[in-house]
Amino acid sequence: MRKDRLLQYFLDFVQIDSPTGEERDFANHLIPILESLGMQVQIDDTGKRAGSNSGNLIGRLPATSDGPSILFSSHMDTVSPSRGVNPIVRDGIVYSDGTTVLGGDDKAGIAAIIEGIQTVVDENIPHGDIEVVFTICEEGGLFGSKYLDYSKLNSKIGYVFDTGGSVGKIIIGGPSQAQITATFTGREAHAGVSPEEGISAIQMLATAISNMKLLRVDQDTTANIGQIEGGGPTNIVTKQATFFAEARSLDEAKLAEQIHHMREACYASAEEYGGSVEFIDSLAYSAFNVPVESEVVQNVIKALANIGIEGVPTKTGGGSDTSNYNENGISAVNLSIGETKPHTLEESIRIEDLNNSARLVIELIKLYA
Ligand code: ZN
Ligand code: CA
Repeated sequence: MRKDRLLQYFLDFVQIDSPTGEERDFANHLIPILESLGMQVQIDDTGKRAGSNSGNLIGRLPATSDGPSILFSSHMDTVSPSRGVNPIVRDGIVYSDGTTVLGGDDKAGIAAIIEGIQTVVDENIPHGDIEVVFTICEEGGLFGSKYLDYSKLNSKIGYVFDTGGSVGKIIIGGPSQAQITATFTGREAHAGVSPEEGISAIQMLATAISNMKLLRVDQDTTANIGQIEGGGPTNIVTKQATFFAEARSLDEAKLAEQIHHMREACYASAEEYGGSVEFIDSLAYSAFNVPVESEVVQNVIKALANIGIEGVPTKTGGGSDTSNYNENGISAVNLSIGETKPHTLEESIRIEDLNNSARLVIELIKLYA
């Protein structure tokens, strides 16, 4: 592994703008790099459905041994503000200049995967088929991996590099997430002259929300109202108001229960005030649970031990492409890349964690070969 090359990859990558939905320039930058490793490369056609100017970038390096095909994945998009990133290296840590995020979420994963594979190729280390998927539109919906055509992939085992904390953390379970929209409809009236003729949608909405269990619902379950919309001049009783919310749970039954609870609170309030409510919920992605005893987990624990790091299997409330891989028949876990404070202007990553992630890629390839 060449640390200088890895760091240069990372610094180059974060300086190419790729906010969610605009990953094309970054994908175009990566294509010749993957081709130079001997990979067959394609950009798939999920861009339109996912809402991007690019598709997912898929690469395959043909096997030199008869190990199984394994998948490595990270996402190309970054959260805002992420245009014009100016990375600063200080005391072995890479920061942004404080005006943008760094974009190490998830370009650190991409840099580590590429450096790992490049080392395997340079040193003629035997390997099975290696597949990479660098997804679009992970942030805000996992849409790249959701709409991916899985018949394009051979791997039944996958490693996603996309979670924070020190290298060694292994995410083996993640939640289901539902998106909820509730629109309350009351009746307009002059607020000063004849308020008794009106039904306030805002009051209905407020009463409903105040009767809900939200935020940390239980050990497995969370829920949050993210946005409220509606209203107008103060002299009119508001006819319509909407809230947008999410609910998540590691347990599908508990998620269904939480959605039911939120729906009931809305209907009870609408009934109390004599108005109506339209409550719409849709599943954004499903929960996943990979057993600790499974090959995908046990092998990454071994690979980590080979580079002197203890593997720590754990579960998270956060979503990642890992959910969609598991949903589509690829047994996958999400590995920490050493990111600190992702999604903030203080985001940073230790160069040593970048190096460890690349070493881990190499060890995994060796183990499966
Ligand atoms: Zn990420
Ligand atoms: Ca993220």
